[in-house]
Amino acid sequence: RKPDIDCEMLVLGAGPGGYTAAFRSADLGMDTVLVERYDVLGGVCLNVGCIPSKALLHAAEVLNEAKHAADYGISFGTPKIDVDKLRAHKDKVVGQMVKGLAGMAKQRKVRTVTGTGMFVSPNELEVTGADGKLTLIRFAKAIIAAGSQPVKLPAFPWDDPRVMDSTDALMLADIPKKLLVVGGGIIGLEMACVYSALGSAVTVVEFMPQLMPGADPDLVKPLAERLKKQGVAVHLKTKVAKVEAKKNGLHATFEGELVPETSVFDRALVSVGRAPNGAKIGADQAGIAVTDRGFIPVDRQMRTNVPHIFAIGDLVGQPMLAHKATHEGKLAAEVAHGAKKEWVARVIPSVAYTDPEIAWVGVTETEAKAKNLAVHVAKFPWAASGRAVGLGRTEGFTKLIFDPDTDRVIGGGIVGVRAGDLIAEIALAIEMGCEAADIGHTIHPHPTLSESVGMAAEIQEGSITDLY
Ligand code: FAD
Repeated sequence: RKPDIDCEMLVLGAGPGGYTAAFRSADLGMDTVLVERYDVLGGVCLNVGCIPSKALLHAAEVLNEAKHAADYGISFGTPKIDVDKLRAHKDKVVGQMVKGLAGMAKQRKVRTVTGTGMFVSPNELEVTGADGKLTLIRFAKAIIAAGSQPVKLPAFPWDDPRVMDSTDALMLADIPKKLLVVGGGIIGLEMACVYSALGSAVTVVEFMPQLMPGADPDLVKPLAERLKKQGVAVHLKTKVAKVEAKKNGLHATFEGELVPETSVFDRALVSVGRAPNGAKIGADQAGIAVTDRGFIPVDRQMRTNVPHIFAIGDLVGQPMLAHKATHEGKLAAEVAHGAKKEWVARVIPSVAYTDPEIAWVGVTETEAKAKNLAVHVAKFPWAASGRAVGLGRTEGFTKLIFDPDTDRVIGGGIVGVRAGDLIAEIALAIEMGCEAADIGHTIHPHPTLSESVGMAAEIQEGSITDLY
């Protein structure tokens, strides 16, 4: 069959990995086609992930701050929440970004094809449109960026609209009186913060002994304490055995120590992780290897086992984060264009945009312990930061983790307001091979929360002591 479209570069999936790869390919002069199932670009991150969740978290922050303001003499009364307007605001934020992306694709002459793509040979992809129309695309090179989707636990009656994944929860259909959040990872806790601020009574159950497994426990503690103060019930080492949809609510049965055996909820959000889409794109037809779990293995140049096909983003492995996907997208496009490059980033920062935020990068204390790695830890408590005191948010702290032999910073963690914005300095310090003195001698503006990074370095140097 004769192809409908011939191109030099095909990109499958228009999430942050895919659109970045397509734009870079086009900028490098390659004739690029971008295939996306939905009629908007942006993928999970922009449409049902990073961006809408942060728009709602901002609303939560305003509500919390308004409550807190009474402590310093400013009272607003009981807030009135117009859910329709809030939803429209979130959609507007997303819409604005989607429009920007469409403009950027057009400007670069990236051809977009809407429909579900499946490989039919090592150089051909067939796209099925919503109307059933088939488009055969022949390509010289390809970058797969088909992302991931939420894991659907079988214990839940998924045909009931009261059972939600993260996409449903972001739709903000209503504000449930009682919300069950299953999974205390980043996504679950961000949504718990949103719904709790909006007025839902939230219960979080987590199978592991700690919220946000992956982050050091000391970073998680201030968040756990604040959630508790806000009335969010958290049950660790607890599993949902069964959920029955009844007229009066979702009846959830738990296995664990702390919860009553059955509780009734108006809605449940299942946020227990995401599964890669590697096994759903006809990879075998192109000879591309896929693991049992659906990940596509790649080398340090993002190349799959088929040399002219690359893969990036959530479907090549953890961490499933947008900034990892974009970085990989640029690299894959450049390598496909002939650049002699490979993955060189040492660290990828993680951020939970909860209240307070938690951010970490590089080696964690938990990891150092598990690997028997000797480290020095320097912690600066925000109770000693004039800015944090002024904000009324002294529960935070900044810690730097050093290699004791070289005094170089190899990791760091921050918990507190805007921790996500602050972590970038530590990531840069690790990439640059900074020693404590390099950070400590850098003048940080006063009074800012960023000073806490400089202070932690000075603690390591020994020029500040006795903060606790
Ligand atoms: P995706 O964004 O998953 O995009 C893949 C695209 O491919 C999709 O548009 C899909 O429709 C399309 N596709 C798949 N199969 C086909 C096919 N066969 N044919 C055509 N198209 C196809 N990360 C962060 O870094 N920061 C955050 O704050 C953050 N918040 C998040 C909040 C939530 C609620 C969720 C769910 C995720 C969040 N993430 C966040 C994770 C982030 O969204 C992902 O890591 C990121 O979107 C991955 O990008 P990607 O390009 O690999 O794939």
